[in-house]
Amino acid sequence: MDSGTHITDRDTCTGYHIQDRKGKWDKMGRIERFWARLRNGEVLVADGAAGTYLQSQGLGAGRAPEVWLFEQPDRIGAMHRAYIQAGADLILTCTFGGTRYRLKREGLSDQVSEVNRRAAELARQAAGDEVLVVGDMGPTGQLLKPLGATTREEVAEAYAEQAVGLIEGGVDLLLLETMSDLEEAKAAIEGVRRVTDLALICTFSFDTHGRTMMGIRPAQAAREMAPWVEGIGANCGRDPAEFPGFIQDMRQVAPEAVLWAKPNAGLPQLVGAQAVYTATPTDMAEIALRLVAAGAQVIGGCCGTTPAHIAAMAAALRGKQRVESLVPETVDHTE
Ligand SMILES: [Zn+2]
Repeated sequence: MDSGTHITDRDTCTGYHIQDRKGKWDKMGRIERFWARLRNGEVLVADGAAGTYLQSQGLGAGRAPEVWLFEQPDRIGAMHRAYIQAGADLILTCTFGGTRYRLKREGLSDQVSEVNRRAAELARQAAGDEVLVVGDMGPTGQLLKPLGATTREEVAEAYAEQAVGLIEGGVDLLLLETMSDLEEAKAAIEGVRRVTDLALICTFSFDTHGRTMMGIRPAQAAREMAPWVEGIGANCGRDPAEFPGFIQDMRQVAPEAVLWAKPNAGLPQLVGAQAVYTATPTDMAEIALRLVAAGAQVIGGCCGTTPAHIAAMAAALRGKQRVESLVPETVDHTE
């Protein structure tokens, strides 16, 4: 049952706490089950891409997926259900660009609360009581001072604002993903912690020769982030075959951390006007097994992955346990 998670007083946290009491109890059950499964060493499956998948369903290139929360909510719900049917234990809200900075591009920067709450409600409806809803938050796209014009405080506030909308809509935990800048990630964590003590996961995109665009390596990201969040990891890089090495590097410096991996299905190749992702479901299933061997415990897909990819990965991961001692990866770690 999913009753009790809806709220009518949309602008106050007080409204959330009072009216959502029953929803909170349901949520505690889900979250407790989630942590119990992780403690038992179970490997869990996350969903696949939202943006590229919605484009395949007709979302115009260059349009933010968030606009479909209002224009095509049925398609957002259908996407969530497709990933759940494929075997996802967790689904992400369609809010990667849900900070005011990103929503500004779509003229939605004054609707941060509505966008995020709506997305969380749609995901919650699809997820029912067993599947977890993860509030997705991507980078703001702003450069922090002194490199850019945005202050750390402004960034923290933007994530706090997004997190409140996601929580009002009923998410179970929160994810910062595709991060590149440690300072932005830290400001985001600071902002989120001001408004909630829900579990927070932080994953980086090592898409530039094994580093983030801002030059951060997996071990450094893990070392600096692990003390502040409930899980760390990698998402959306270049070659998915690099991901087991990223996870292994993180595991070495943060052996107790819950490690998340959402690799993309390779880089898109242009075929005519169509961007085609080259990694097949079988390829991604093989990567998923290598991620388990590297120490990952929550595994899904990023750009280019579809319900077919997640189904193949979930089938490969069924019954798999977190490895207790690391299997050496034959990854070339040279520069
Ligand atoms: Zn991606």
